[in-house]
Order: sequence, then C-alpha cells, then structure tokens
Amino acid sequence: MTTNIWNPFLETLPLELLQELQFKRFKKIFKYAYDNSPFYRKKYQEAGINIDSINTPDDVRLIPLTVKEDFRDAQDNKEPFPYGEVLAVPIEEVTGYHQTTGTTGKPVRFADAWSDWEMYAENWAMMMYSRGLRKSDRVYVPFPYHLFIAFWGGHYGAEKLGAEVVPGGQTSTEQRVREMKELQCTAMMCTPTYALRLAEIAEKTGINPRTEIPIRMIFCAGEPGASIPATKRRIEEVWNAKVYDHCGATEAPLWAFECDAQQGLHLNEPNYLVEILNPSTFQPAAPGEIGTAVVTNLNRLAMPSIRFDLKDLTRLSVSEEPCPCGRTWRKIVGGIIGRRDDITKIRGVLFSPTSVEQVVRDMPELSDEFEVVVTREDDNDRILVIAEVLNEHAGRRDEIAQKLIRDLRNGTQLRCEVEIRDFGTLTRYEMKSKRFKDLRATH
Ligand SMILES: [Zn+2]
Repeated sequence: MTTNIWNPFLETLPLELLQELQFKRFKKIFKYAYDNSPFYRKKYQEAGINIDSINTPDDVRLIPLTVKEDFRDAQDNKEPFPYGEVLAVPIEEVTGYHQTTGTTGKPVRFADAWSDWEMYAENWAMMMYSRGLRKSDRVYVPFPYHLFIAFWGGHYGAEKLGAEVVPGGQTSTEQRVREMKELQCTAMMCTPTYALRLAEIAEKTGINPRTEIPIRMIFCAGEPGASIPATKRRIEEVWNAKVYDHCGATEAPLWAFECDAQQGLHLNEPNYLVEILNPSTFQPAAPGEIGTAVVTNLNRLAMPSIRFDLKDLTRLSVSEEPCPCGRTWRKIVGGIIGRRDDITKIRGVLFSPTSVEQVVRDMPELSDEFEVVVTREDDNDRILVIAEVLNEHAGRRDEIAQKLIRDLRNGTQLRCEVEIRDFGTLTRYEMKSKRFKDLRATH
C-alpha cells in the first residue's frame, strides 16, 4: 500500500466534488454494514430502511442514529466473542483489539482489520504532516498504550510519516521528562491535562521545559483543553511549543484536526461523513450554531460506525474563506465545547464545565488544577469551584478568591462558591481528567 501523507488531489478537491465522493462512500459503507453486520441489518430492517431508501444526501437522515449503548448491547454475551453482532468481517480478519476508556460506563470492545489499521495510521500521518511534522522529528509518546487506540494510532502514524518514535511507556512522569530532555525530542502527543502535568514535574525536577526540552509541537486530544484559549496559552507558554487539537473517539478516530494555520479544525472529509445537528431536532445546525456531532466512518470495515452519535457539541465555521493551508475541507471552530451529557441546567442557566476551565486557567495566580462540584441543598443548586493558589501568591488568598468569584460570575452567568487550596492538594491526572462532579442526582 502506498503512503499518501500529502495527497493534493483529495486535500484540495473542490468541496462540491468532495461531497459527491463522500456520499458515494457513504452509500457503499451503509450497504456493506447492512450486508455484513447482523447488528446493523437488524436495526435497519426494524426501521424499514435499506440502500434503496438512500438516493440523495438528505436521505442520510432517514437512517436511525447509533449510540455507544447499542454497541454495548450488541456485545453482551453475543457471538462472535468478544465483539458481538456489530462485527462485519470474519473474526479471522481481525488484527487489532482496542476498547473505549469506559469513562461513560462499561467499555466497548473494538476490532480493526488490517486495512482499518493502515487507514488509521495514514490519517494520523496526514494530520501530523499538515502541522509540519517531518522525517527529522523525534516524537515522544508519554503513555503506556495498553488497550486505548489513540496512542497506538499516533505511534504508527508517526512511523508511517518517517519520524522517529520514542514510546515513553510504563514509567514515572519524572522519568519521562528526563527521557524527553536526554533524547532531545521535538514533538509529543498527550491530553492537555498531561501536557501541563509534565511541565509541572519538569520544573520540580529542575528541568526547564521551555529551554531544555526542544519540543516544538504538542498534539493534544481526549479533552477540550487544546481549543480552550486560556488552557492552550498555558501549555504553549510552559513548553514554548505550538499546541494542536484534534477530535477522535475509539468509535471514530480522528474525525477533525487542526492544521498549521490553526483557524479551526478541518473535518476529515474523505474518511468521515460528519453531520453537525441541532441537539433537539437532529436536523442540520447552521454554521455558527452549536450542534451535536454525528459521524460515519467511511472506510472502516471490521466495525463500522454508521451515523454514530458522539454526543460532542461543536459548531461549524461561518467563514467561507479558503484555509491558508490550501485544504478545502470544512472546519469546526472552538473544538469540542462539551459533551451533551455534561452540559447541564443550573438554576435555569445552561452550564458547561469548559467555561470554568477558561476562567481558572486565565488567572495566573492559580495552578492548572481545579474541580467543580455541583450539589443540591434544600432545592437550591450549589456550584463549588475548588482551585489551587501558586505558592508565591499564597499570601493573597482572599483577594484571589474574590477575583475568582467575580470572573466565574462573568464567565458562567452563575454565582459560584470558591475554595482556594494550597498548591499540590488536588488530584493530578495522566489521561482524561475527572474535574466535574454533578452530585445532584444522589441528593
Ligand atoms: Zn488548513
């Protein structure tokens, strides 16, 4: 298989032609899933839908959505073990096992065939190339990869591009920082949370991440942070590097990514049909309006995701200006604003934990860590934001608390209580953080 790291034909194809191609690919994968996956066939037969129902791009919306719970049910004690009825290839064709992180319940098991894996590595290579990663780079991956797909994909993608990969597996954060310095690594991939954590430990160890580790680009995903301006700025400052965001899930790896122009995240158009839909009506949201992302993986054969509801909220760019990078692929702006399940009403006002993150990370007196706890007392919703003061500002704790209350009021339109703790007292995370706790259901 040839490697198409920069594919001028697909990457600059006029949008109209690209969408024609996308629709063709959509019909093909839909028919493929219907013919080969008992889960999809049953689901679509019940809905009275088959390939003859899909004649125009609008007909795509006749097809019922798929959610994570569907995959879970289709795997529960069903053959073939361990993937169940979603599997669309003979089990012998499966070459890779991964599973979801389980942050939203029992993990879903995921099979990939070799062609899926090649496609995935190619996607990663294409994305990293668009940001300026080259064969001369040395990429550090500061994680034990285990069952999670993202780091494996990043590893193989960097190799496919011809860069050198350093797997910073099962070891301490301190050791990882030392290795990055010793090997003079130039790029790394991690969650925004862990990019900050690594810098914090580097400084504690006496290593200046700005001057002693030549990381020039950080590929972030897994959390909204890299698209939250205050968090992105913090990471870029401590590392003296550019931070790039991309969107992906085990069910739909790498469906949108930021190129080096950094004016939004391009949709990965040749590999996905991405629909941004109004979260109430599930009809297309206009550019600029918040919508929920529903994605179809157009080239994944072992376990296709057809109209998979990611429950991630984002918005399409209103700008019709061509991207300076030359790609014609549409864009979303602001990354993932939040998950549909996390956006909650508090005292009648829509509340998103990312708005707290922006406020906390914008205050230079506070550390990178924080926690939000929502409780209900006597029918009143109470929001408590816990943050940490940096040691050099510990003497101004009251003043900082007052400022945080004011800024939270402006940033969230809600009155929040705050608790300012000593530096280093809140939990640190390596992968996805769990900073938002809504305890109202149990009160
Ligand atoms: Zn671009």
